[in-house]
Amino acid sequence: MEKNVCHQDVPLKKYNSWKVGGPAQFFYICSDKDLLSEHIKIKKISPPFTFIGLGSNMLIRDGGIKGTVIMMHGGLSEVSIYGQYFYADAGVSCSKAAKFIAKEGFSHSAFLAGIPGTIGGALAMNAGCYGSETWNFVKKVLVIDGQGNQCERDKEEYVPEYRKVKNKNNLNEYFLGAWLQFPQGVKEDAEKDIKFLLKSRKESQPLDWPTAGSTFRNPPNHFAAKLIEESGLKGFTIGGAQISIKHANFIINLGNATARDIEDLITHTIKKVFKEKNIILETEIKIIGEY
Ligand SMILES: Cc1cc2nc3c(=O)[nH]c(=O)nc-3n(C[C@H](O)[C@H](O)[C@H](O)COP(=O)(O)OP(=O)(O)OC[C@H]3O[C@@H](n4cnc5c(N)ncnc54)[C@H](O)[C@@H]3O)c2cc1C
Repeated sequence: MEKNVCHQDVPLKKYNSWKVGGPAQFFYICSDKDLLSEHIKIKKISPPFTFIGLGSNMLIRDGGIKGTVIMMHGGLSEVSIYGQYFYADAGVSCSKAAKFIAKEGFSHSAFLAGIPGTIGGALAMNAGCYGSETWNFVKKVLVIDGQGNQCERDKEEYVPEYRKVKNKNNLNEYFLGAWLQFPQGVKEDAEKDIKFLLKSRKESQPLDWPTAGSTFRNPPNHFAAKLIEESGLKGFTIGGAQISIKHANFIINLGNATARDIEDLITHTIKKVFKEKNIILETEIKIIGEY
């Protein structure tokens, strides 16, 4: 599909990891940050804007998304090293960034390797696992606002929290890239860490099915997967959506699920866990779009 051009009525199923959802009213793959700024400024693309990376943490409803979906993956793809720092475009996959960092002989990037999203998505979600989170390694970010203006912001301008980040001034901006800093290490060890992490994820997660990873946030002092399992929901199915038998916090698309099936299963899970455990689960995934 042609980049830096506004397409109309584009099905989004192939652009998210659950493989569900309706079309984008307008769809734009960005491979040139300055052109994106210009197109926003001259209103060649119109708000509301929804930035997406690899769609691995979102449920797009069956009615699709109004306004312009701006996709970073498949467009912005630079990852490079500048002395002690790495720069990665928002569209670079976390796995590509992790492998690049390890190959350059820096440690601690393994956690990123197993996250099937982009650097932009990892910044927005403060993605993490195995005790590490994206913002632990951020030095500064490149952002764009809804009027097309770009600027660099220091890490200190943000408050990273569990699976989210807040701009201290509540600015409504989107990520175009990030400068990251990782500790110096040994290339072979860093690459071994990545292999080990990918193997252990394969053993514990249903990676052969379309999913969006952990559906619910872990409530304080609890694990969502354990609460769901203890509420007797493993394998529970609505339409084509099922609570994974391998990992109860994952909802899998058995092949023919609609976004509605998945959302109904989410609602059912919240009600059942509340009934059984008196704990309210909150979604980690972002539910967007029209019914
Ligand atoms: C099998 C599997 C395993 C997973 N394991 C983990 C895990 O271990 N840890 C973890 O944290 N997550 C995990 N996830 C969830 C997901 O991969 C992460 O949240 C990831 O960071 C999302 O990146 P993405 O590019 O796919 O974002 P998307 O799903 O495309 O977007 C997620 C949110 O970020 C916003 N966003 C995306 N790009 C930008 C941008 N450039 N600027 C501003 N906002 C943006 C979107 O609007 C949306 O609100 C897993 C998912 C799957 C499918």
